[in-house]
Amino acid sequence: MKSKLQTGAKERGLVFVISAPSGTGKTTLVRRVMEQLPDLHFSVSYTTRYPRSNEQEGEDYYFVSSSVFQKMVERGEFLEWAKVLGNFYGTTLASVNQLASKGMDLILDIDTQGAKKVMEKVDQTILIYILPPSLEALRERLVERGLDSPEMIQLRLASARKDMEEAHWYHYLIVNEKIDDAIETLKAIIIAERCRKVKDSVLGEKMREWEEHHGKNYC
Ligand code: 5GP
Repeated sequence: MKSKLQTGAKERGLVFVISAPSGTGKTTLVRRVMEQLPDLHFSVSYTTRYPRSNEQEGEDYYFVSSSVFQKMVERGEFLEWAKVLGNFYGTTLASVNQLASKGMDLILDIDTQGAKKVMEKVDQTILIYILPPSLEALRERLVERGLDSPEMIQLRLASARKDMEEAHWYHYLIVNEKIDDAIETLKAIIIAERCRKVKDSVLGEKMREWEEHHGKNYC
């Protein structure tokens, strides 16, 4: 069996993959959780899509041409890449390796195709899917957001319905009905997964401490 990408250090960082149909509020959710929880790093993807007016190069994405993206594919620089609604998106091996091997916990905001590849290739991947409360609510949010033409909104809704079918193999599902509740749920998942990761080392340390003070047969 092909071994998974080992990020190297003894305390490897966790990789939280977050997927959602666009318009679900995922970007706000991730940003707010990152403000509230320490030591979470956002993995900035490469894309061939044009930047939106509120987006910053190197913060939201690295915006590249199709030919640059293609060269990166040929050089094997991507851990995963996918075509989403006509544009290419990819996560580089270097960004995941550099951060996770230093023990940093990473957030990857990627689609379901990318999530599947990361799950297969990277140990310690936690998959979280965000759902809108209903397709109607999603339509309203996409209209309010004002970024898309009516045709694009139709395309996004059709793609959201199909995308949702993939959610069953994710570890967690959060329905973003109220943003504050969704923030608390996402924080709870991250905190719980961090506790799970350190369980064995904390237990070993505590047992050693107790033995040093009381010997093995303390009762
Ligand atoms: P948007 O253009 O709205 O920012 O993103 C469109 C979709 O592309 C979203 O579902 C987002 O999660 C996904 N996406 C962003 N970066 C990546 C990436 O590096 N890889 C993959 N597979 N999908 C990505």
